[in-house]
Amino acid sequence: MVEVRSVRKSFGPLEVLKGVDLTVAAGEVTVILGPSGSGKSTLLRIVNHLEKADAGWVSVGGALIGCRRSGDKLYELPEREVLKQRTRIGFVFQDFRLFPHLTVLENVVEAPVWALKRPRDAATASAVALLVRVGLADKADAYPRQLSGGQRQRVAVARALALEPGLLLFDEPTSALDPELVGEVLDVIKDLARRGTTMIVVTHEIGFAREIADTVVFMDDGRVVERGAPDDVLNAPRHARTKAFLSKVL
Ligand code: ATP
Ligand code: MG
Repeated sequence: MVEVRSVRKSFGPLEVLKGVDLTVAAGEVTVILGPSGSGKSTLLRIVNHLEKADAGWVSVGGALIGCRRSGDKLYELPEREVLKQRTRIGFVFQDFRLFPHLTVLENVVEAPVWALKRPRDAATASAVALLVRVGLADKADAYPRQLSGGQRQRVAVARALALEPGLLLFDEPTSALDPELVGEVLDVIKDLARRGTTMIVVTHEIGFAREIADTVVFMDDGRVVERGAPDDVLNAPRHARTKAFLSKVL
């Protein structure tokens, strides 16, 4: 479903990704762990081409993201094509990024109407069903500022799902939340995992990672240092850096 091959990325003199490979099978959940600055967010942003890799490539569902191959060269796709590809990949950010001037329901309805040209009444019916699923049916007419952080993040998840993406990316979806609000967002993500949604989740919630991950990937200093089943990586890490990281966060 997702293939990341030999991806490199520098910001000026700083090499942030030093050749990253990642494979995520359809229906599986990969959790990425790693210290601050190790390149986790940059990698996620490259997967949906919010950031362009300097070298290497990403494919999702068999299609190269952001470029096309001709011979052994890769060429940038026009922005319009990239936007179309991005509608197939949901992204949930740490800081929610809802539209403040739209109601909860409108936040969920707008993307399918504009990006997928869905008729508004059909998109509204789907959005209402999604709000039920994330437990926010009663907040449809509220504005984001009237919601708690956990509720805002659940709206963001519903909005991502409204495009029926084949892949969902989460970048620390609970790290901006008060501790008592973390559980409600994790429950929504767990439900998606049970339904077989393909996901890449960056999180520092180790217990959650253990529960939902098919594969745990540990990144450090722009590289994948270790990957494996959650029980192996979390209970019996092989690399000193993984051990050191886990001893700090567990
Ligand atoms: P955290 O756990 O703190 O979110 P991370 O693993 O997600 O960290 P990244 O956000 O990918 O790390 O950043 C990796 C490195 O790249 C950091 O040193 C960061 O300062 C740098 N970086 C990221 N984006 C940019 C940018 N647009 N311009 C310059 N440097 C950047
Ligand atoms: Mg990050």
